[in-house]
Amino acid sequence: MADPGETLRVIRKYGFHFQKKYGQNFLIDSHVLEKIVRAAQITKDDFVLEIGPGIGTLTQYLAFYARRVAAVEIDKSLIPILEDTLGEYPNVTVINEDILKVDIAGLAERENGGRPVKVIANLPYYITTPIIMGLFESHAPVESMTVMVQNEVARRMKEQPGSKDYGALSLAVQYYAEPYIAANVPPNCFIPRPTVGSAVIRLKKHPQPAVAVRDEQLMFALIRASFNQRRKTLVNGLANGMELPFTKEQLGEMIAGLGLPAAVRGEALSLAQFARLSDRLSEALGEKQGR
Ligand code: SAM
Repeated sequence: MADPGETLRVIRKYGFHFQKKYGQNFLIDSHVLEKIVRAAQITKDDFVLEIGPGIGTLTQYLAFYARRVAAVEIDKSLIPILEDTLGEYPNVTVINEDILKVDIAGLAERENGGRPVKVIANLPYYITTPIIMGLFESHAPVESMTVMVQNEVARRMKEQPGSKDYGALSLAVQYYAEPYIAANVPPNCFIPRPTVGSAVIRLKKHPQPAVAVRDEQLMFALIRASFNQRRKTLVNGLANGMELPFTKEQLGEMIAGLGLPAAVRGEALSLAQFARLSDRLSEALGEKQGR
């Protein structure tokens, strides 16, 4: 089905109408499908969770290379189409659900003996970040995610300090996983064509988060506060963006204590530096509360 003619034939046969609200851009390029499968390093041992199978184009590839595939599709008008296009693949289960509501740990338990699953998707772009961060933060057993996202989002996930695309998303993703951009994909590889370029990115989950930190939530609150006011110095970002029981001078001393210049901006800090600052703050909060 990975060509425009066949995709259009299936769509017409079922009188299917694309729904913009579901981010429906179907892949029509077999080279891109092969790149996704290769980047995901699928083997016959793997249980794959596909998010948003559409008319099943990528799903057929996954079914061929993996042991089992569960494909979660929100749009019920696609279900009869998937029954048809995936009819010859007994190792595929289609689940008509919103991925944000699926119990992935339960699915991995039932279908994969609790072992980690590989997530693969041409993601609906309107919920890229909630899907990816939801999968990380729920601590569901996921080995890797190989996903098509907007080009710009892929870049932001991979960036290091000092770049304009470096931000809260880079730090959150890199805390949990190692990003690798496997392909850039132009709009003409989809029907209908998206308005922006896309990229396939693989996020291989670290066995342990990339840095050890006393209070994960405090570190991410710190990161958000620093990048919400990107042009401000770190000390101002923290003083204005968080309700901390410290004066600006005290915050400045903690920052200086880490060997950072007083006027440093959050965008210059690495994940390890945010973790050290978070630990320092967490200790100081503990001392204040007499712990
Ligand atoms: N995998 C197909 C392909 O590559 O041709 C379709 C990809 S299309 C970009 C995204 C798919 O995700 C659509 O089929 C859409 O209906 C589905 N989708 C959108 N929101 C979803 C959600 N919350 N849960 C599950 N599927 C969703």
